[in-house]
Amino acid sequence: MTKIDHFIAGEFAPPDSGDYFPNVDPATGDSIGEIAEGNGVDVDRAVQAAQKAFRGPWSEMSTGDRLDALKRVAHGIRARFDEFLDAEMRDTGKPRAFASKVDIPRGAANFEFFATIARAVEDQSYQTDTRDGRGAINYTTRQPLGVVGVISPWNLPLLLLTWKVAPALAAGNCVVVKPSEETPSTASLLAEVFNTAGIPAGVFNVVHGLGPNAAGEALTRHPDVAAITFTGETRTGSAIMEACAPHIKDISFELGGKNASIVFADADFDAAVAGTARSTFSNTGQVCLCSERVYVERPIYERFVDALASRAESLTIGDPFDDATEMGPLISETHRQKVLAAYEKARDEGATVVTGGGVPELDDPFANGAYVEPTIWTDLDDDATVMREEIFGPVCHIRPFDTEEEVLALANDSRYGLCAAVWTEKLRRAHRVAHQIEAGLVWINSWFLRDLRTPFGGVKLSGIGREGGRHSLDFYSETKTICVKL
Ligand code: NAD
Repeated sequence: MTKIDHFIAGEFAPPDSGDYFPNVDPATGDSIGEIAEGNGVDVDRAVQAAQKAFRGPWSEMSTGDRLDALKRVAHGIRARFDEFLDAEMRDTGKPRAFASKVDIPRGAANFEFFATIARAVEDQSYQTDTRDGRGAINYTTRQPLGVVGVISPWNLPLLLLTWKVAPALAAGNCVVVKPSEETPSTASLLAEVFNTAGIPAGVFNVVHGLGPNAAGEALTRHPDVAAITFTGETRTGSAIMEACAPHIKDISFELGGKNASIVFADADFDAAVAGTARSTFSNTGQVCLCSERVYVERPIYERFVDALASRAESLTIGDPFDDATEMGPLISETHRQKVLAAYEKARDEGATVVTGGGVPELDDPFANGAYVEPTIWTDLDDDATVMREEIFGPVCHIRPFDTEEEVLALANDSRYGLCAAVWTEKLRRAHRVAHQIEAGLVWINSWFLRDLRTPFGGVKLSGIGREGGRHSLDFYSETKTICVKL
């Protein structure tokens, strides 16, 4: 049983309340440890530690030394790769095949990447005419914000936490992190790595616990936290925005999605089926970028439904630690109940269940895990509840379409706008459709192919702002204009 404490001012510390709650392995339902239940007192201590580091040692280091230290964090994660992998798999139930290729490598890469691009980011300079003919030069500089609050979800715990921590620190800020209550372990390991990387105490702090009326909310309301960067549900984003309003904190939100995948009849059929299977079932459907609405041009519709269903049926479900496993459990029993309620709602709303719709039969100890079957529906109305709300499970609905105009209207008929995938071999169509889709990110003939330099974020209810490359550094810095009269 692992006891997970806060990490404040370079030291692990028990919670002010003395209370802990269980950490549950979703693959078995077993309790594997306990997690400190943070409150406002813990958050305040962490914010003070971060402020002290920000006003002192972290700002006193040269930019080069700070960025070198962040590269040592990347090396530190790689040096303890197996420990990170084990911890992430136990917290989430992710199959090794996924976590070892996506979560942990990206956790390290985020530090390496932002430490590199922070050196290369450009400022601006303008020469300005003046009446006396001597002119002026305007130039911009970047300054850190101070203490940044990072609130992260459970679906890609280390990856999404470091996606925000790395640029925040590269820009010269200090952070207080509130990881998801479901997935505390890799944040704790990361704290150990920070200590061994020679980063001053207080630069990176972790307060564990819940969100509303607890550690998460206390962080959003703290007057000395300059900005909140958040990834999670849209509803939570809305609550955080309200909490940030009194102090006009900067916010960056990466929120939910109800993403469309559009398959034209001219697409490379096998690639489109394989890509859509990935975009629907990866990480048990728990990636904000997953496709839950699939639109297929009528001539290939039935063949596509059959092909995707056989993919779903061929997925190996079970022990995350078995290399052959392709799909693990959902994050928790609570989330499973939510997904199963959506499965039931879809039936009530008239769905044809092409495959799945229930719970797989697994042997002990996985019989008690939070598993569901990969599921495909057809024949739902476009305004069915399950077509409108994010489910965040291994499920999609497939609907036929006849024209480009029709499918664009269908894809855009959503309150969300995170990403979309378009499968077609026609070049002009690919660009034309991509331009008209209301989303922050459109993949053509691929999915989840990320270049960390590109801006990432959603439109509509899917988020506010963009992170990635220099866009992250823009968010984590204040730009100042200095005007020099010559
Ligand atoms: P969540 O919103 O329930 O929780 C996320 C974090 O917010 C947790 O750390 C939680 O403790 C904290 N929190 C909850 N209420 C809070 C409050 N009132 N004040 C402060 N903090 C609070 O999200 P989740 O269930 O962990 O993650 C799944 C969601 O995240 C899905 O909707 C998914 O689409 C979204 N997501 C979006 C992206 C993206 O990049 N757009 C990426 C991954 C996940």
